Amino acid sequence: MSTLRFNAVKESLKRKPLKVKEYKRRSEVFASNVFNEEAMRQYLTKDAYNEVNEAIEKGSKINRLVADHISTGMKEWAISKGATHYTHWFQPLTGATAEKHDAFFETIGNGLAIEKFGGSQLVQQEPDASSFPHGGIRNTFEARGYTAWDPTSPAFIYGTTLCIPTVFVSYTGEALDYKTPLLRALQVVDNAAVAVCKYFDKSVRKVNASLGWEQEYFLIDNALAASRPDITLTGRTLFGHSPAKGQQLDDHYFGTIPNRAMAYMRDLENECMLLGIPVKTRHNEVAPNQFELAPIYEEANLAVDHNSLLMDVMQKVAERHSFKVLMHEKPFAGVNGSGKHNNWSLSTDTGVNLLSPGKTPMSNLQFLTFFINTIKAVQIHEELLRAAIASASNDHRLGANEAPPAIISVFIGEQLTKVLEELETVTKGKLSPKEKTDLKLNVVGKIPEILLDNTDRNRTSPFAFTGNKFEFRAVGSMANCANPMTVLNTIVAKQLMEFKAEVDELIDKKSMKKDDAIFNVLREYIKTSKDILFEGNGYSEEWEKEAKKRGLSNNKTTPEALKVKIAKSTIELFEKLGVMNKVEMEARYEIEMEEYILHIQIESRVIGDIARNHIVPTAVRYQNILIKNVTGLKAIYGDKFKDLAKEQLTLIEEISTHIEAINSLVTKMTDERRTLNKFNDIDKKANGYCKKVKSLFDDIRYHCDKLELMIDDELWPLTKYRELLFTK
Ligand code: ADP
Ligand code: MG
Repeated sequence: MSTLRFNAVKESLKRKPLKVKEYKRRSEVFASNVFNEEAMRQYLTKDAYNEVNEAIEKGSKINRLVADHISTGMKEWAISKGATHYTHWFQPLTGATAEKHDAFFETIGNGLAIEKFGGSQLVQQEPDASSFPHGGIRNTFEARGYTAWDPTSPAFIYGTTLCIPTVFVSYTGEALDYKTPLLRALQVVDNAAVAVCKYFDKSVRKVNASLGWEQEYFLIDNALAASRPDITLTGRTLFGHSPAKGQQLDDHYFGTIPNRAMAYMRDLENECMLLGIPVKTRHNEVAPNQFELAPIYEEANLAVDHNSLLMDVMQKVAERHSFKVLMHEKPFAGVNGSGKHNNWSLSTDTGVNLLSPGKTPMSNLQFLTFFINTIKAVQIHEELLRAAIASASNDHRLGANEAPPAIISVFIGEQLTKVLEELETVTKGKLSPKEKTDLKLNVVGKIPEILLDNTDRNRTSPFAFTGNKFEFRAVGSMANCANPMTVLNTIVAKQLMEFKAEVDELIDKKSMKKDDAIFNVLREYIKTSKDILFEGNGYSEEWEKEAKKRGLSNNKTTPEALKVKIAKSTIELFEKLGVMNKVEMEARYEIEMEEYILHIQIESRVIGDIARNHIVPTAVRYQNILIKNVTGLKAIYGDKFKDLAKEQLTLIEEISTHIEAINSLVTKMTDERRTLNKFNDIDKKANGYCKKVKSLFDDIRYHCDKLELMIDDELWPLTKYRELLFTK
């Protein structure tokens, strides 16, 4: 019987919003659980403090003796805040965060004990890491991996544990996590951007990439979520007919936030404040029970850590409020999916956002330089960006309603399109003084400081310029931002290096003036990167055709999209810039392909189980009720029963048709899995799972969802979409 479903519904209706602590001023508690500058000044000696700052700013190594001072200070601070344990906190390639807690507590003989945390424990640890994915790295090279302190992301206390952000690498130095390549990419883009900035301002010493993510998610009642085996096991619904009322009315978006969800958000925001995650905006999203949370942007490495931490905190806080957070990109068919827009820009240590138009023609030429180079980088490496956001779950979202398509393109808005059109007509070679003045006054100088027409007109471009930053919108809600951020910063770095080389060559060999050289190179970039520009909205067949003509990639599935990661040119690019080597790239490819296979395999098993063990038996039960009814009618009315039982007879037959289809499709799917599981070739296996297993999901679902519409609601075992989506 469907008792589980009805009990869950009953339970969910009884819930009340939790009372949540209210701070008068959030700024007062902000980052109070973070070992930030203020805490360091209080708990570290001057030398130790300076050494940490050197390490943060210049990446210098911390000497062991000083490390002991730092760890002692950190421990004292942590204990004063109620911490009892410490952990090296890292981001393995599983997509979750990992930690192993050790107590500060240590015995020292004679029945005595102390609280201890030494420098070596701070700087390096060796977690038992054999179960983290490594794509063969640790088999071929060294069996062990270690975590090493990343001082650029401050330690924090969560619960009663001091968490130390770390990188995770093998003993031979290969990255086994998301953070290591990101840190390398940020260094590379820093160097490349500083070199280009020198054309405009000699005093620039450092360029930081910044990231502001926007996290979308669904909040579903705990009991309701637990009543669905598909949500429990795969994070999304694999079955379910759309409700009579969906998101058509648009009454959820920016509407009042329901009370229970509001209490959850306040609680979550309080936690974020303590952890120094600067969350700022919250609102309803387009779909029912869908929400968004966004912080003030931060330096990219810290922002990535904060997003990973946040995803963890979100689940933990949700438990208190009897919610389950669905982070999946497409938890409900026919309802908007969730993304994680990555707002990205570059800014200098002199306080200039390089992607923000300025007040003077010169600062605008600098803006245009970075703006056009970014477009050029995306144009050349669009396929790499697509690969950076590829996952089994994001495949469901890309190309669906309100989401970007699988084709990467850049939206820049009307005003900047005009500016680029004008710059394209700049004279080849040296510019006359008149032309240069004219350009500076009437084109470059006329870019308004605030680009009004760029504000959110286009909601679904995969890569949009939004006034003072680019917004990479194709990133999935479950993703770790490090992967797309590593690729984006690497390709921009590469492009800036190329730009610098080309400009210098014109200056040195053609004895051009600096400005003339810059205009000349930019003009060519505008010409050659036009194909990536697209002002349209979302997915359409016309755009698909047009994109094909332009030679843009359109990799709709993860196995297709990932292939470029191990292309010769990609490996060369990453090796040359020192972001990742061949072994690391190949390992990542293997891990992602394997993850894809596992993902589809699990979903396929769950589909088979629910269809055969939940849905078909329910259909049979209902069919029996109908048969009993028909037999009864016949007993009472004799021959006349055929007229009276017409509908029931049709239903009985239709149910049989669907049951038959479900059974044969599930058998087919199971057979395909069995065959594929014998494959050793990871490419063939992943493609097989995509083309032969996953392709059956929709068919099986179709028949099951049809049955949902026919069968007595009282009997239906799976909690329905309307119950999942409209219980507040
Ligand atoms: P909206 O897109 O909702 O109108 P904003 O454009 O102000 O709001 O910002 C959206 C997101 O972009 C926020 O998370 C914000 O932190 C981030 N953001 C704003 N400026 C930058 C920047 N220079 N670099 C990176 N992210 C930024
Ligand atoms: Mg956005």
